[in-house]
Amino acid sequence: MNALPCEHRYAHRCGPTPLVSVSLEGGPAIWCKLEFMNPSGSTKDRIARYILEKAWRQGKLCAGDTVVEASSGSTSIALALACAQMGLRFVAVMPEGVSSERVMIIRAYGGQVRLTPRDQGIRGSLAETERYAQECNAFLPRQFANLDNAEAHRVGTAREIVDQLPGGLVHAVVSGVGTGGTLVGLYQGLSEAGCPVVPVLARPVNIRQQPEVECCSFSARIPGVVDSLSRIFAEAELPDLQTIEVNDEVALGTARKLMRRGFPIGPSSGLNFAAAVAMAQKLERSGQACPTVVTVFPDRMERYFTTELFHDPS
Ligand code: PMP
Repeated sequence: MNALPCEHRYAHRCGPTPLVSVSLEGGPAIWCKLEFMNPSGSTKDRIARYILEKAWRQGKLCAGDTVVEASSGSTSIALALACAQMGLRFVAVMPEGVSSERVMIIRAYGGQVRLTPRDQGIRGSLAETERYAQECNAFLPRQFANLDNAEAHRVGTAREIVDQLPGGLVHAVVSGVGTGGTLVGLYQGLSEAGCPVVPVLARPVNIRQQPEVECCSFSARIPGVVDSLSRIFAEAELPDLQTIEVNDEVALGTARKLMRRGFPIGPSSGLNFAAAVAMAQKLERSGQACPTVVTVFPDRMERYFTTELFHDPS
């Protein structure tokens, strides 16, 4: 078993992040896990460290090796920070057009950024990642397929929630899905702890895209949340999975309201919170008095300065 490099052993760790009860405008109280308080500013610190440390201990990674990942944001930033601390080389592959703050942060941590054509989206980045990793014999964390992603949340985030929550009982856990690691890991960890928990997928929709269609279309306006790409999510057992659709304008508006309440969060926190409120109301209507609904605030506002989150129309 390989020991971790000395400076890394003493580097600041992920979690426990605070779990706080938040209610907006007289609505139901939601338990929110403040994941933006992790070292690089997002919940992805957990998976970056979990995956890299495990590979290091297993001798699959050592100082000077290259790590390559397709990610348009938080995971790349978290991997760039962890690689800087562990003496690893990091290359992020992402579609053109991602906010410049992200590229600047990754480069500041010593990472490299390779951009793929915008019209190919994250799929183009995934293909380029495979090609480039073969070329330079790199380690691939593969956040969309690596079950250690969900595992990091099962053994980390979920256990923290059970310890932090008065009574330790959760009725529903709500999250937008990118890789699915957060929702799958939280559901598994909370179920194992004995919670009668329902997993809830928060899905952003844009009602203007297809006004005549009853079921709304997925909106790409909430960074980090994607539509049906993840193997982790597709292959997970999530009995009774519920989906709550949130108008993307409502998600962004909720994020702005949360910022005015003193939470330095990004758009997906607004999506998650709005869906969690809808789920709590649904549980109340079905006779569950004061349901305990948990969600996450995945990342920080600073990486969205050049996006519409900061173009408040009101
Ligand atoms: N990144 C951000 C910024 C998010 O908001 C979300 C959704 N909660 C995700 C990623 C998705 O998390 P996961 O990849 O664990 O599904």
